[in-house]
Amino acid sequence: MHDDPAPSPSATAARRFPVRTAAGVCAVAVAVLALVAAWGMKARSEPAARAVETADRGLRGAATATATAEVAPESTDGGDIPPDRELTPFDTGYPAIDRLDKNLLKAVQKAARDARGDGIEFRVTSGWRSREHQQRLLDEGIQKYGSAKKARQFVNTPEKSTHVSGKAVDIGPTDADDWLIRNGADYGLCQVYNNEMWHFELLTSPGGHCPTPRTDAAG
Ligand SMILES: [Zn+2]
Repeated sequence: MHDDPAPSPSATAARRFPVRTAAGVCAVAVAVLALVAAWGMKARSEPAARAVETADRGLRGAATATATAEVAPESTDGGDIPPDRELTPFDTGYPAIDRLDKNLLKAVQKAARDARGDGIEFRVTSGWRSREHQQRLLDEGIQKYGSAKKARQFVNTPEKSTHVSGKAVDIGPTDADDWLIRNGADYGLCQVYNNEMWHFELLTSPGGHCPTPRTDAAG
């Protein structure tokens, strides 16, 4: 503990003092030297102590920053969905929803209201993502699928991901995806990849025709 420092040289000198007296050393000279040394030590040690304290605070600050970085995946700042609750397209208090392209968000909200009339509830399983979040997903995908090539069929790079640009939203559960595949074009919303029934983008004007879905994110 830095709060419990080694005895100061002046304290050590003070303790030695009677011993030296007993040994016949000139007590007055030792006392004067000890006083001068103690005074000089005190004068020097105050700024030194402050410097140590400042450095220590700096270290503690760094430790806090490290801890924050380590818990980042649990934060929703990078567009992560909170683990303890499901988000709807109306949960704009979360960056995953709030940072979506405004036109995409409006279209998804309108579709969600109409789907609710059919007894279908939309959940946003992923929306806007930071570049770091997307890179993490790609890294996890490479771990999971064993190669970057295979992972890229499911996860785009931060440069290419439309989640990073806020122009894509993943919707669940399956009945909501079915509803949106059937009715999405009325809102301009289209399924983009055949292997991702949950991923939608604004690819046509309301009432228009969606382009044929691509095979996968790599295609
Ligand atoms: Zn997606």
